[in-house]
Amino acid sequence: MNMRDSEAVAAQLVEKGYSLAGSEHSADVILLNTCSVRDMAEQKAIGKMRNLAAEKRKFRPGVVLGFMGCMAQSRGKELLDQLPDLDLVVGTQKFHRTAEYITRILEQRDGAICDVAEEIGSEATIREHLLNGKDVKKSVSIMQGCNQHCTFCIVPDTRGKERSRTIPDIVAECRELVDRGVREITLLGQIVNQYGRREFGVENGKTAFVRLLEAVHEVEGLERIRFTSPHPKGYGVDLIQAYVELPKLCESAHFPVQSGSDRILKRMHRQYDVKRFFSLVDQLREAQSGMGITTDIIVGFPGETEEDFERTLDLVRKVRFDNAYVFKYSPRKNTPAATMEQQIETEVIEQRHARLLGQVNEIAAEINQQYEGRTVQVLVEGESRRNTERMMGRTRSNKIVIFEGKERHRGQLMDLRIVRCGSFTLYGDPAIVNLESSCTLA
Ligand code: SAH
Repeated sequence: MNMRDSEAVAAQLVEKGYSLAGSEHSADVILLNTCSVRDMAEQKAIGKMRNLAAEKRKFRPGVVLGFMGCMAQSRGKELLDQLPDLDLVVGTQKFHRTAEYITRILEQRDGAICDVAEEIGSEATIREHLLNGKDVKKSVSIMQGCNQHCTFCIVPDTRGKERSRTIPDIVAECRELVDRGVREITLLGQIVNQYGRREFGVENGKTAFVRLLEAVHEVEGLERIRFTSPHPKGYGVDLIQAYVELPKLCESAHFPVQSGSDRILKRMHRQYDVKRFFSLVDQLREAQSGMGITTDIIVGFPGETEEDFERTLDLVRKVRFDNAYVFKYSPRKNTPAATMEQQIETEVIEQRHARLLGQVNEIAAEINQQYEGRTVQVLVEGESRRNTERMMGRTRSNKIVIFEGKERHRGQLMDLRIVRCGSFTLYGDPAIVNLESSCTLA
């Protein structure tokens, strides 16, 4: 979501006549978009800004420095006091005002500017994209904010109340992207399946989110749809059924579970139990057998005992996730968990993190191994990041596949035979598939 927000701001600036600098060293304006989910992310952003500020003071007095996003929102003016060289602080409902503020600062009409106010309608302002004619996939922000209030999470504070864009507005953005060459779209929201539940409600047994999926599915030329992240709460049969009925909806789900202990899930205010999570995973796999499922897990939540942690390990072994982001619990400002008793020692958190990660990686490698010898369909996204001589695409289950390809394959759906599997990457060969099909023809 942060990458999407940054892109929209960059695109808005380009529209106003600014151009993207090759690097921060040659830029006249440097904006850092920030994340507050864990303290480490905030410390990194502040450290980075301190370095930029020192450089500004010594060599680049004219450069404009700004913070945007969640940390800007939660710390606001405090950042200007802390970092006197900072010119701009733009909150999460004000991304679209960035260009206007930069112009004001460059024209020296104001001193530093801080805007972290709420703004009605801001959910519909993240819509511009930077398109270079080569982009195969893009993300679309369908809503802002979150009402869930998990006890560990700062997001409801930094991103405000849940607000959804309209279906026609979102579909228009998707259509525009597809007209400009995009083949795959990921719909984004903090709890994406809660989309429009208050604004548009349920109609004919279908939630607003499923109706949105159906509407996006109609966009001609679009090949693939994904969304992130759903929450088990309100994950209805209509959404499971969408995986059966909508062929463009890829069989992959990022499905945050957070813990395998009912006691901890309750303390986290997740509003589901392990049984419900298992049942949803079963239903998803029944709907689409090749379903790739990834998750988020927090270790060391206050009060997490060894037994609770082992339940999480057990859940991971039973579900067999394709991958998981494992987070060390980080106390956040104004969240109920931060002041709960029984905060867990750093050392214990470190150990649990390592144990869980080991288990997750082992299973992920085993699942990858099962791809060997199989033929998969990939959407070719572009050059491989590590080796620009090769091309890279993703399976519908969201696995990265590297293969010997050419620029002309970009944007194409290709069948590849998986010949080798690394821990995170699969290696494919188009030639074998073609050989087989020509044999069949002969
Ligand atoms: N609403 C999003 C959450 C975004 S934050 C979603 O459902 O995907 C991404 C992940 O960060 C969360 O799923 C959680 O696992 C982790 N996280 C959030 N707050 C955290 C905290 N205080 N400490 C550690 N990890 C946290």
